[in-house]
Amino acid sequence: MKLSAAIRAGCAGSRQIFDRLFDEKNGLDVVGACMVGAGFPKLRFIHDFREKYHDELRRKVKCPDCIESGPVEDMLAHLNDEHRMTRELIADFLESRDL
Ligand SMILES: [Zn+2]
Repeated sequence: MKLSAAIRAGCAGSRQIFDRLFDEKNGLDVVGACMVGAGFPKLRFIHDFREKYHDELRRKVKCPDCIESGPVEDMLAHLNDEHRMTRELIADFLESRDL
């Protein structure tokens, strides 16, 4: 499963939050949604998630909204927390880069 598809799956039934992966009220940021959608639903599986998507998460991309660039994992948090981009738009962005 691609990261973009995992995000879309994780968006179903959750609301977007900022500055943390999960909350107790079904909130998920984009990385949390990606983890849940990819089948790693508990925070303690974040290591397994990072291992499974190691290459994708380390790939460098440019921010579509500013001059920042960096690995996908950092860019996900950047788009979610700093630009407050919706998770669906972040999934579109990843999909346009074949991720
Ligand atoms: Zn940016």
